[in-house]
Amino acid sequence: MHLLIPAAGSGSRMKAGKNKLLIQLEGESLIYWTLKSIFSANLVSWVGIIGQPNDKEELLASIKDFAPKIKWINGGKTRQESVFNGLNSLPPKAEKVLIHDGARCLINPELINKCVLELEDNDAVILATKVTDTIKIVDNDGFIQETPNRKYLWAAQTPQAFLVDNLKAAHKMAIEKNWIVTDDASLFEMLNWKVKIIEGNYSNIKVTSPIDLQIAKLFLKNY
Ligand code: C5P
Repeated sequence: MHLLIPAAGSGSRMKAGKNKLLIQLEGESLIYWTLKSIFSANLVSWVGIIGQPNDKEELLASIKDFAPKIKWINGGKTRQESVFNGLNSLPPKAEKVLIHDGARCLINPELINKCVLELEDNDAVILATKVTDTIKIVDNDGFIQETPNRKYLWAAQTPQAFLVDNLKAAHKMAIEKNWIVTDDASLFEMLNWKVKIIEGNYSNIKVTSPIDLQIAKLFLKNY
């Protein structure tokens, strides 16, 4: 199974002044921990990392022994563009692909394997968790418009797994139609293609703001 890691963000919400994936946690970079989990998932055989060219040297140095086993791919201006670049850099024989955000460094290797196995019975699968908060849809002025029924709400995570041809076709359609999305499953939904949810766990956070670093440190202490 091939796996692509979008890692080309600027980390503006982290306010670290650099790519958040280079922040040190328990003696290693955040992206190192993501790769450690990925390389512990025995069903993953090929890994590509999508990063900004000016981060390349530092990112590769920070992942140490994993660097020679990884293909470097230049990222784009948005996550969507970065994933599209990744898809175009897969080996021609690649039939299936997992997309996993570099910022989700607490991913459990078992759950990566589970996505691979579930893709045998489905064309697209994603990890997600049940939403425990009550979610409000608001207008531009911050007034509540609606409260969707929580029974139907799930928070999407990565990995997200797809057949390469389908995901490429969906991304091409998005470029044509100017669709802007924040995950890959959204493109499938817009095309009315089925995506299966696999229940993940709440520890698979996307490290986004400073508080997430504290949470990640607590988990990594016990790694
Ligand atoms: O910004 P956010 O945390 O939602 O980004 C999710 C993932 O997408 C991160 O791992 C980030 O590095 C990656 N990304 C990317 N290219 C961009 C923007 C974000 O690969 N232009």
